[in-house]
Amino acid sequence: MNDSDKQLSAQLLHISQQLALAGLNKGTSGNVTVRTSHGFLVTPSGVPVEALSADGMVHMQWDGNAEPNKKPSSEWRFHRDILQARDDVNAVVHTHSMFATTLACLHREIPAFHYMIAVAGGVNIRCAPYALFGSQALSDVALIALQGRKACLLANHGMIALGRDLVEAFSIAVEVENLAEQYWRALQLGTPYILSETEMRAVFAQFKGYGSWAIEP
Ligand code: 13P
Ligand code: ZN
Repeated sequence: MNDSDKQLSAQLLHISQQLALAGLNKGTSGNVTVRTSHGFLVTPSGVPVEALSADGMVHMQWDGNAEPNKKPSSEWRFHRDILQARDDVNAVVHTHSMFATTLACLHREIPAFHYMIAVAGGVNIRCAPYALFGSQALSDVALIALQGRKACLLANHGMIALGRDLVEAFSIAVEVENLAEQYWRALQLGTPYILSETEMRAVFAQFKGYGSWAIEP
C-alpha cells in the first residue's frame, strides 16, 4: 500500500467512526468507499465499527478483485458501479440510519418539503425499489435512483450518500438523515407543503457560494 492509500485508509476509518458517533450506523450496518489512484478502498464485511482498523480496509480493482485474505463489504458492487459511473464522485457512504430507513421501509421518497433537499442535488431524494443486499440488482436500481442526485433511499434497507470526498459524502448523509427525520415528524401532524419548482430554482441560485456545498442541479 502506498502512502496515499494509507492516508485514505485512515480517513475511511475516521469517517466510519464519525458515522457511528453521529448515530447513523450501528454494529455492522453500513459501509464506506473512497476512490484511489488505481481502484477503490472499501470497509471490510461484517466488522463492527469498534473493531475496524485502517489496516483492515480492503483495496479493490474495478474488475471486482479484492486484496487476498480480506473480505470486502458485501455492497462493493454498488460502491464500484457508482464510482465508475460518476466522475463527480470520489466517496460513497451507505447507512441504515433510523429515519431514512423508516421512510425507505414505506417506499417513500423525500420531496421538496424543506429547501435543504437541494444539498442532495435535486427536488427530491428518490427511493430505489427493493433488491437483495449485496446483489447486482441492488446496484442497478441504486444507480438509477442516484441519477442527477447525491443521495437516494434504498427500499427496506437504508440510504446512500455521495461526495467529491469522504467529508462531503459524510455531510450529505448527515443532512439526508436530518431531512428524513424532519419529514417524518411533519407527516405526523399533517400534509407538509411541498416547495414548487420555481421556489426550488430560487433555492439552487441562493445556494451558490453558500458554505462548502457543491450544489449543481
Ligand atoms: P457489510 O458489513 O458487508 O458492509 O454489510 C453491511 C450492509 O449494510 C449491507 O447492506
Ligand atoms: Zn446496508
